[in-house]
Amino acid sequence: MKTIGLIGGMSFESTVEYYKIINGEVNKRLGNLHSAKMLIESYDFDEIEKLQSAENWEVLTEILVKSAQKLENSGADYIAIATNTMHITAPDVQKKINVPLIHIAQAAGNYIVKNKMHTVALFGTGYTMTKSFYKDKLKEDFGINVIIPEAYEREIINKIIYDELCKGIISDNSRQKLLDIILKCELSGAQAVVLGCTELPNIIKTASIPIINTTKIHCLEIVDKILC
Ligand code: GLU
Repeated sequence: MKTIGLIGGMSFESTVEYYKIINGEVNKRLGNLHSAKMLIESYDFDEIEKLQSAENWEVLTEILVKSAQKLENSGADYIAIATNTMHITAPDVQKKINVPLIHIAQAAGNYIVKNKMHTVALFGTGYTMTKSFYKDKLKEDFGINVIIPEAYEREIINKIIYDELCKGIISDNSRQKLLDIILKCELSGAQAVVLGCTELPNIIKTASIPIINTTKIHCLEIVDKILC
C-alpha cells in the first residue's frame, strides 16, 4: 500500500469524514485489520478562512505548497487537499511537488461522465461557485454544463457552509433551504447536484435529483490510487 498525504482541517468536520471513509474503504477492500497509510497536515481553519476572506490566495498557495512538500518529504506517495475551495491552489501546488496531487474536481468530473450526465448544478462556497477553477474544469475537461445558483441563493449556501457546517451545526431549516435551491436547479435542467463542498454531504443525504458527494468520490479515488 502507498501512503496518502492529506491536507485537511478545512474544516475538521470534513477531514473527519475523509479519515473515516478512506480507512473504511481500505478495510473493506483488504479485510482483516487493514487501514490506510496516511499522513495528515491539519490547519487552524480560522487562520485559513481569514486569508480567504481577504482574497489572499498568494499566501494561501504558499501555505499549501509548504504542507504538500512537507508531506512528500515525510513519505507521502500522493497528495490530496480535503476541500473543494482550496483547489484554487492545486495547479501551483502540483508544480512544486514530485508526487501526484489527486484533484477533487477531476474525480467529480470522471464520476459525472461515467454516470452519463451532461448537466449538473454546482453547490459550494461562494469561491467555488463563482471562480473559474472548478466549474471551468468540469466544462473544459469533461464537457459538462454547470448550473450555478443565483446570487442570493449562493449567499445562502455560502453562509450555511461557513456559519453552520464548518462548526458542526446541522439544521433542518438550512437543509430545507438547500433542498429548495436544488429543486430550482432541477427545474433549470440539472440532472444532479454536485455537493462541491466537503461539508455539504453532512447535511444533504438525498434530494429531488441525485447528489454527487465529492467527499466520498475523492476518498474512493484516493483509495484506488494508494492500493494500485
Ligand atoms: N470544505 C469546504 C469546501 O470543500 C469549504 C471550506 C473551505 O473554504 O475550504 O470547499
